[in-house]
Amino acid sequence: MTPDTNIFKKKLLDEKKLVEQELSTVGRRNPENAADWEPVAPSEETAERDEVADKLESFEENVAIVRQLESRLGEINAALGKIHDGAYGLCAVCGKEIERVRLEANPAAATCKSHMK
Ligand SMILES: [Zn+2]
Repeated sequence: MTPDTNIFKKKLLDEKKLVEQELSTVGRRNPENAADWEPVAPSEETAERDEVADKLESFEENVAIVRQLESRLGEINAALGKIHDGAYGLCAVCGKEIERVRLEANPAAATCKSHMK
């Protein structure tokens, strides 16, 4: 384990909190699976005929945002899991150390620069 792991762990936990906060504005946790988030429809309190199209559109937007945030959350959780296992900062493809600059740009990076998708 590198001495800096704690710095990255803090960054990851901070980002996780932010991502979960954002998720709670466009979705809700699946009651049967806490790791799964479901998009929610925007509030229906003011539903009027004219607004139906708009609402469908913003629901579609929520679906897209939830997918994006969920996938980011998955990356963050995977990185936190690696910290726990003492394998943080190692490329998932070649097993070499991930460049420091890359981890600073994205603490959840799972691969080195040569194996970026
Ligand atoms: Zn690699």
